Amino acid sequence: MHPVAAGKRNGVDVIVVGGGTAGCVLAARLTQDAGTRVLLLEAGSATLPDAVTHPPSWPSLAASGAGWGDTTVVQRVSDAPVALPRGKGLGGSSAINAMVFARGHRISYDSWSDHGAKGWTFDHLLPYFQRSETTTGGAPGRGTRGPLAVAPAKQPNEVLLACLDGALETGHRRAFDISGGLEEGFAPVDLNIVDGRRQSAADAYLAPALDRPNLDVVTGATAHRLLFDGRRCAGVEYGADGRTHTALAAGEVVLTAGTIGSALILQRSGIGSADDLRQARVDVLHELPGVGRNLHDHPRANLVYQAQRPVPAARYNHGEILGLLRSTPDADGPDVQIIFIDIPLPNPVAPVQNGFTIGISPMRPKSRGSLRISSADPYAPPVIDPRYFTEEADVRAVVSGITTARRIAWSCALAGWGIEEVSPGLSAVDEESIADYTRRYFASSCHPVGTCTMGEDEVSVVDSELRVRGLDGLRVADASVMPSIPSNDTTATVYAIAERAADLLRRP
Ligand SMILES: Cc1cc2nc3c(=O)[nH]c(=O)nc-3n(C[C@H](O)[C@H](O)[C@H](O)COP(=O)(O)OP(=O)(O)OC[C@H]3O[C@@H](n4cnc5c(N)ncnc54)[C@H](O)[C@@H]3O)c2cc1C
Repeated sequence: MHPVAAGKRNGVDVIVVGGGTAGCVLAARLTQDAGTRVLLLEAGSATLPDAVTHPPSWPSLAASGAGWGDTTVVQRVSDAPVALPRGKGLGGSSAINAMVFARGHRISYDSWSDHGAKGWTFDHLLPYFQRSETTTGGAPGRGTRGPLAVAPAKQPNEVLLACLDGALETGHRRAFDISGGLEEGFAPVDLNIVDGRRQSAADAYLAPALDRPNLDVVTGATAHRLLFDGRRCAGVEYGADGRTHTALAAGEVVLTAGTIGSALILQRSGIGSADDLRQARVDVLHELPGVGRNLHDHPRANLVYQAQRPVPAARYNHGEILGLLRSTPDADGPDVQIIFIDIPLPNPVAPVQNGFTIGISPMRPKSRGSLRISSADPYAPPVIDPRYFTEEADVRAVVSGITTARRIAWSCALAGWGIEEVSPGLSAVDEESIADYTRRYFASSCHPVGTCTMGEDEVSVVDSELRVRGLDGLRVADASVMPSIPSNDTTATVYAIAERAADLLRRP
């Protein structure tokens, strides 16, 4: 138990820990009520590299000061660690991500009730999806008055349009709105880009709220651990300017430090699996075996093509068109994503100067891993083990997707580009060699979720109202609470979770 010391920052109702995607939403929504005083703590900076605003520059950002620079432990299937970037600074991962904005297909939220989460189906989330966005395409079920102005690229890269034509030519459906959670097939996806510039959570939500007298934002503030008064979370101990500070909350503390950050803060505070905590020499305050468990993500295998015709330079985010499809006819919904990317990503075979990539991911992966602190030191690197592709079903989903992607690549629509598949090329033609390529040379799509799973059973960390089970005054409201990953990129779902968390916190 960490005693509550006299705090420098008192008079706060809610402390929001982590000024990323969800944290910016919470800080902005809660301070709409002038009587609620909010303190937002963010480990990174308020000033991010200029490249953040320039959409095609996003692949360079993970290695900049706007990223934490995490890697996983050596993965069993590939015998190599995998880079797992996450954002650091106001806006968090929404400030460095690839800006794809899409809901999972509605069916992928159904399993959220498996461990007892109540009221989190797609239909329950729909008002919150809508509240976050402004769309103009007229698709059913989309929002028209939210802070995020999202839309597909007006003129997607020509090579990506050829891939879309190839998908239709090979029998796939043209979706009207692949971002809305209701359709399968291929289409240009919505992007968080406004007037040619990235729109992060800090731009859309936090910036308009910064002048409010009831909002205090402290950057360069790394939360070390939570402070407790009995079973009630009373505040946060954090480091800033080389010193240790204390902030106390009269109401609640909300963790929005992301799938990696939130679970680590709980563990450093003595909340987690007793074995993990003892290994890190942290006293057990409250045993919750699910903290750090259920870590999963969308891994991605890449097919890399060289083209004879010059591929036009990217104007948007590189990945402007994608497809959601089923790996087998009896799947109950889409479980594979195929994304067309207008640059040749690094590959294990040979460098490609002019070309493009087709990325293939299992969108409802079964592989599960874990996350744990290596010590009580808040600045020590964590032990991240997603155990990618340890479930063979995930490999098979990608193999099916690669077969589909290759049919698209060899369609008449792409014939004029004079393409050659460089990676894997002829080294992977039969099912087993394609599976082997998938296991050995995948990357992360950087969508980790699940380390503070929501539910009502013993492996759940938060209940259906996002309260940490068995404690008072403490919630988690970010990507970590997703019991299973939605079948599309994750940001849109994080925005919806945070919008809903604001409602839960406002309730008297
Ligand atoms: C490179 C990359 C590309 C991606 N591409 C896409 C995409 O195109 N589309 C999509 O939908 N999703 C994408 N994602 C995933 C998506 O961005 C995330 O799922 C989502 O933004 C997570 O939101 P969050 O609020 O849970 O966490 P984050 O947005 O990561 O916010 C967590 C915040 O907490 C802060 N923090 C952490 N620990 C502490 C601490 N101890 N004290 C204080 N602050 C702390 C962090 O610095 C960060 O600002 C991508 C992610 C990355 C990294």
